[in-house]
Amino acid sequence: MDEKIARQKAETLPSLLLPWYDKNKRDLPWRENTDPYRVWVSEIMLQQTRVEAAKEHYRRFLRKLPTVQALADCSEDELFKLWEGLGYYSRAKNLHKAAKIVAKEGFPTDAEGWRNLPGIGDYTAGAISSIAFGQPSPAVDGNVVRVLSRLLGDAREQDLLRGEYAKLLAPAYPKERCGDFTQSLMELGATVCLPASPACLTCPLFSLCETKSDALPVRKKKPERRKSDMTLLLFYDNTGAAVCKRREGVLQGTYAFFTAERAMDAEQVASFLQSCGLNGFSIGAPASHRHVFTHLEWDMTAYPVRTEQDLSRLRVPDGTAFPCTDFSDLLYAPVREIEEKYSLPSAYRWCLQVLKKVCNKQ
Ligand code: SF4
Repeated sequence: MDEKIARQKAETLPSLLLPWYDKNKRDLPWRENTDPYRVWVSEIMLQQTRVEAAKEHYRRFLRKLPTVQALADCSEDELFKLWEGLGYYSRAKNLHKAAKIVAKEGFPTDAEGWRNLPGIGDYTAGAISSIAFGQPSPAVDGNVVRVLSRLLGDAREQDLLRGEYAKLLAPAYPKERCGDFTQSLMELGATVCLPASPACLTCPLFSLCETKSDALPVRKKKPERRKSDMTLLLFYDNTGAAVCKRREGVLQGTYAFFTAERAMDAEQVASFLQSCGLNGFSIGAPASHRHVFTHLEWDMTAYPVRTEQDLSRLRVPDGTAFPCTDFSDLLYAPVREIEEKYSLPSAYRWCLQVLKKVCNKQ
């Protein structure tokens, strides 16, 4: 890549992208104004969530927590319930931590200040400070790397390019329209310069682009997903079903059903429950579901277990060779209440249908 040509192309970007953006930008709820809180929440939501999926969550979130103070004051349970369906709960946790700091100290106004808050990296800091504060701070995510690597014909591996592209873009920022320039690059990557089949013939950068195809960027081979077998025990009685708060792992702080991290058939479930001290119970028909995270894949089998026995007295026997939920963490609630009030990640939500079926038969 010739650096001089790259700089010249970067400098031309605002004059090509801004008129295109003015005409073609999507009407999105977070574009109604550039209030820093609204921009911040949207950028965190959009880190791992598609625009279409984030829209309704965003509106609901802002209705319930319209200010940074409201976010700082809400409980983790309330926040996680609002975050349900978005996944990657560590984003919500960091947003909460950062809101407590901002509610006391005020909003940072530049990228450096934003970068010091929990959960905010270079991309998000650049996006918020350019969109909400008009700073010339580039925000280079996967979309922008894709656009620039194609534009420049840059065949280096894309993971190495973010910092370099941020440096290339910074001097090109037009003083009066920093936020729009950031958003125009994102918008082009999201709607025209798509990962597969980019719409090159309608692209405002067509005449400048070295690639005009999806041949770039060069991607690193993704590591294989780690696979785990899970057995879920859906304890229920006349009053409701048992859930527990997860104390660790990727979904820490959210609710789950009793989980044993290994595959079990119905006979193994029965002998496991007996070894834990449960005597009176009946096991219903199992249901299965595969849940895929970015790096993990869970093969889950759920067994409804009807019992009137007090679960808090049960103990997982010493020497049990696989991780499982502690019985003392379980609490009973009606299934409808679990659905409405508890933050149950999508990895577990399908179990509600299983429970509704067995509870309706009672
Ligand atoms: S011409 Fe095609 S490949 Fe090049 S930037 Fe535009 S959409 Fe992307």
